[in-house]
Amino acid sequence: MKVLITGGAGFIGSHLAERHLAMGDEVSIIDNLSTSLIENIQHLQDHPSCTCHIGDILNAEVMRVLVEECELIYHLAAAVGVEYVLENPLQTLSTNIRGTEILLELANERKKRVVLASTSEIYGKKNGHVPFKEDSDRILGPTTVLRWSYSTTKAVDELLALAYWREKRLPTVIVRPFNVIGPRQTGRYGMVVPRFIKQAMLGDPITVYDNGEQRRCFTYIDDAVDGLVAMAASDRVVGEVLNLGSNYESSIRDLAHKIKELTGSNSEIAFIPYDQTRRSGLYEDLDYRAPDLRKIRGLIGYDPKVDLDEALRRIIEDFKR
Ligand code: UDP
Repeated sequence: MKVLITGGAGFIGSHLAERHLAMGDEVSIIDNLSTSLIENIQHLQDHPSCTCHIGDILNAEVMRVLVEECELIYHLAAAVGVEYVLENPLQTLSTNIRGTEILLELANERKKRVVLASTSEIYGKKNGHVPFKEDSDRILGPTTVLRWSYSTTKAVDELLALAYWREKRLPTVIVRPFNVIGPRQTGRYGMVVPRFIKQAMLGDPITVYDNGEQRRCFTYIDDAVDGLVAMAASDRVVGEVLNLGSNYESSIRDLAHKIKELTGSNSEIAFIPYDQTRRSGLYEDLDYRAPDLRKIRGLIGYDPKVDLDEALRRIIEDFKR
C-alpha cells in the first residue's frame, strides 16, 4: 500500500512512517518543518520505499500529485503546541483550516481514505463529564484566549471531514489524541514531558505551573501508532470520531517527582504561578483531561499497554542516547 503522511517529519508522523515501512508499505511524507525536525526522518530518507517532500500542505499543486499517488492519507500536519500557537496565531488558523480543506478537497476527488488527526483540545474545559466521551459537550472560553482558538480550528477540521463523509461519502475517520509522549517529542512548543526530562537531565529547575494538581493521561507513542494503523485498516470506523489515549494518569506534580527520580536528578521542583508564565492571559490551563476509551476499544480492540513509568523510562533512555 502507498501511504501519504502529512506532517510526517513530526513526532507522531515519523513514528507512523517507520511503522508503515516496517509493514512493507511505501511511504510518502510532506512536512514544512515548522515544528518538526529533519533529524526525525533523516534515517528514513535512504529507505527505498520512503519519499520525503519538504513543502507546505497549503501548496495545492504539490498536494494534488501526492494525494493522487497514494491509497491512504494520514493528515497530521497542523500547528501544534502551546508555544507555537502563542507565537503564530495566524499561521495556526491557516494551516489548520485551509490546509485541511485543501487536503479533503483533493482526497475527495479520488475518494482516498483519510485518517484526520484532531485533538483532545476539542473538549475544552472539564465540564463535569470527564472522562471525555466522543459525544461530550464542548465547553470553551472566549475567542481572545488562544487555547480556544486552537480548539476551534480543529473543530472546523472535524466538521469538514464529517461533512465530506455525510455528503460525498469520502471515507474519513477522525482521531482525538490525548497527550501522546515518546522519543523525538520536543519540549520547545510546551509539551510537559520532554520539558521536564530535559530540565531534570540538565539539573535545571523542573518548572511545575501552579500547584501541579492538574492531571493528564499520557499515551505512549507505540500505543498511539497501533491505534492509528488499526483505524486506517478498519471499515467499521469510517465516518466516526474516536478518542485515542490511555488511562495512565498522573498529576503534573507527581510527574515532576517521578521524572526527577527516574533520571536521578538533583533538580529542584519549582512551582511557578501560571500568571508568571508566558501563557498568562492568552492561554488557560485545564485541571483535568482524561479519555473515555470504550468506543475505540469496541470498534478496533485498541488496548494501550505501555504505562507511564515504562514510557518515561524509554524516553529517558532515548534522551541519554
Ligand atoms: N506544564 C507545566 N510545566 C511546563 C509545561 C507544562 O507544569 O513546563 C503543565 C501545563 O500547565 C499543563 C500540563 O503540564 O497543565 C500539560 O501541558 P502540555 O502543554 O504538555 O499539554 P496540555 O496542556 O495540552 O495537556
